Amino acid sequence: MNIILFGPPGAGKGTQADNLVKDYNLFKVSTGDLLRDEIKKKTSIGNKIKSPLEKGSLVSDELINNLLEKVVSNKTYSNRLIFDGYPRNLNQVKDLENLTKKYDQKISCILSLNVDLSIIIKRILGRKVCSNCDQTFNDFFNPPNLSNHTCDSKFLQKRTDDNEETIKNRFATYEKETLPILNYYSDQKILHQIDGMKEISQIYGQIRGIIDSIEAWLSK
Ligand code: AMP
Repeated sequence: MNIILFGPPGAGKGTQADNLVKDYNLFKVSTGDLLRDEIKKKTSIGNKIKSPLEKGSLVSDELINNLLEKVVSNKTYSNRLIFDGYPRNLNQVKDLENLTKKYDQKISCILSLNVDLSIIIKRILGRKVCSNCDQTFNDFFNPPNLSNHTCDSKFLQKRTDDNEETIKNRFATYEKETLPILNYYSDQKILHQIDGMKEISQIYGQIRGIIDSIEAWLSK
């Protein structure tokens, strides 16, 4: 099944997507990660998107659609994708519908993580990503320690857009451009609301319950 993980920046989409990848043999496609990778490799796309990313604005739908088509068209991932951070506006919803139609796929489930702004700020300011193993930690909620992380601490880095100034812009962009997507999906039975304020394992418990019941239903 293909899943969309929906929610504001810092809602924990990436963390929950990583849990699902481990347990359900799925692949995560995070448009944010794809874009950061372009910047890291200093590609021509990377140079173009550095500034909007650091400001917390969205990059062009065309660019995102081109990156996404490479993933959705890949048969290895067919109907096994978790979209993290995509779609981000109504144009991208339409683009995704076109891509899924073109490559004979289907979105089975949209999980919407609901989190208050005060928690989002803490999650974003505390976030650290290991550039060696790609694991994400949080100084407040899930600090790296000897039992959960074996890489050297020099690899733990903060994202350049995880600062107080950019958080406000990212959240404003989310409210203006991304939130309206929920109205669009609200009358479809595939939309599930998740309380994203709980602990990581409790949130994942809710998600597992939903995914297991969809799997059981699909296998009937
Ligand atoms: P994220 O890692 O999802 O928080 O995304 C980080 C940044 O990448 C966002 O603030 C945007 O600048 C850009 N970005 C990520 N996904 C998208 C998308 N689907 N459409 C446009 N811009 C995106």
